[in-house]
Amino acid sequence: MRVAPPDNHLARHARLRAELSAASLDTLLVTSLPNIAYLTGLFASTAALIVGSNGLHLIVDGRYLGSAQLRQRDLPGMQIVLVPPAGSFEETVAGELLAASNGRAGFEADHLTVRQHQDLAGRLARSGATTHLEGTQGLVERLRAVKDDWELATLKDAATRLSDAAKCIIPKALAGMAEREVAGIIEAQLRRVGFDKPAFDTIVAAGPNSAVPHYRAGGRRLSEGDLVVMDFGGMLDGYAVDLTRTITVGRPRERERQLLEQVAAAQAAAFAAIGIGKAATAVDAAARRALEGAGLGDAFSHGTGHGLGLEIHERPRVGRWRADLADEALQAGMVFTLEPGAYLAGWGGARIEDDVVVTSGGAEWLTDVPRLL
Ligand code: ZN
Ligand code: ZN
Repeated sequence: MRVAPPDNHLARHARLRAELSAASLDTLLVTSLPNIAYLTGLFASTAALIVGSNGLHLIVDGRYLGSAQLRQRDLPGMQIVLVPPAGSFEETVAGELLAASNGRAGFEADHLTVRQHQDLAGRLARSGATTHLEGTQGLVERLRAVKDDWELATLKDAATRLSDAAKCIIPKALAGMAEREVAGIIEAQLRRVGFDKPAFDTIVAAGPNSAVPHYRAGGRRLSEGDLVVMDFGGMLDGYAVDLTRTITVGRPRERERQLLEQVAAAQAAAFAAIGIGKAATAVDAAARRALEGAGLGDAFSHGTGHGLGLEIHERPRVGRWRADLADEALQAGMVFTLEPGAYLAGWGGARIEDDVVVTSGGAEWLTDVPRLL
């Protein structure tokens, strides 16, 4: 697995430290594993990271010591703290946090359980230290939303591979197969083009099942006249890409052909609405307006897209405007999907999904596959 060069990691640390000082925090306890991977290049199932003004402390247990030491070669400023074999993870984290902070220590409110927070606060209080815990939200996630050069190169590479996998799906050859067999064929293609693993459970939804946006893949056999939604993605070097095509088994009838064209037109409208400084919700609104104009407003039951990166769903949120959620202004280097769909219960549905990057000129497609296969 390839990881970003040291300079990219150091630039991420510098951006995060600027966020911390703007929030008057002297340290941040990072407990989100994707955030730890972003800042250190270590992909672990258990780890914690303390980012202070003068250093990084990566807390791991014995299972990840070797991997952490490899990362330390790239990032010599990062100290590794090993949880003692007979010690507790929580106790080690609390001890490191006390040593690193004597003021306001941030924690990730979205990634610490109530129990973990109570435990940590209790340990700090009992120590008599002046360290004070402050909940934060999205400090690292906001940085992750804007991809650096290495991430963009990785996502472009992954999107090209995903497009190659998609081009090998030949509708004619799939007739008569069960949805889950088709899912198996798609996942074998993902491995063939070099993905480490699928980014999520592959969706193959045929006939009436295509009207269920989050259907997975079951036993229905693909039959003449079916609309088939195929939604799949892959992970490459820790990064996720995501693509959907809707095919028809046999020649599409007029109604199916029209539905596919309307969904493709909504996707094109969303793409045209992308620009630096524009609201992410305006991209959703453009797709929604196009489908409403086609009489399919009620049939479009989800958001237009989602950010892609170390997680399959991350910032920016490209959905309907909501008073309780911050509307994100698009920035160059943001990568997200455009996946409008229309679902008519009991009959069928269509979704078309591609990945894009925001650029100075507007946007560029990362995936490249004919939309109407
Ligand atoms: Zn998808
Ligand atoms: Zn998606």
